[in-house]
Amino acid sequence: MNSQSTHAFIALGSNLEQPVSQVLQAFEELDQLPDSTLISRSSLYRSAPIGKLDQPDFINAVACIETTLTAHDLLQKLLEIEQRHGRKRTSLNAPRTLDLDILLYGDLQCRDEKLTIPHPRMTERAFVLRPLLEIAPDCIIPGRGQITQFLSYCLDQKLEQIVP
Ligand code: AMP
Repeated sequence: MNSQSTHAFIALGSNLEQPVSQVLQAFEELDQLPDSTLISRSSLYRSAPIGKLDQPDFINAVACIETTLTAHDLLQKLLEIEQRHGRKRTSLNAPRTLDLDILLYGDLQCRDEKLTIPHPRMTERAFVLRPLLEIAPDCIIPGRGQITQFLSYCLDQKLEQIVP
């Protein structure tokens, strides 16, 4: 990896078709992305659904990769992984075999029709903040600050660490 490589944090979530296997398989696929290496990954967490409540619990995790892909190329690769996992886009907050979101890409801040970084909802979700804190305790969200300050706002969200 050369000096232009960037650390990108990716949120993983699944609540269909053996979610634990979906997420573990996705870690391997992130490691196999071109020009990228999996640096670390969190434990798995089980979270209660938010928004649409009549669906199974989710399995969530966060991974850190080192990559020389651009943020937009990385997004494209993540969409391809989701497709391979049979992801169907139905409605907002619907159940899914695999969801991959770019949380952070170095200190990049961007917003266009395809990509918003930092991920706009990351500070509202315990299932993102807790695993991110586990692998990056000193993490700063560009333009927003330390992640620890946001955790206190989502203490009511049910989240259980299931695999060390
Ligand atoms: P969803 O899978 O429902 O979370 O939505 C995926 C879509 O959100 C993608 O097609 C992207 O164009 C868009 N998007 C915007 N910002 C991000 C981001 N930070 N990570 C992943 N997808 C994003």
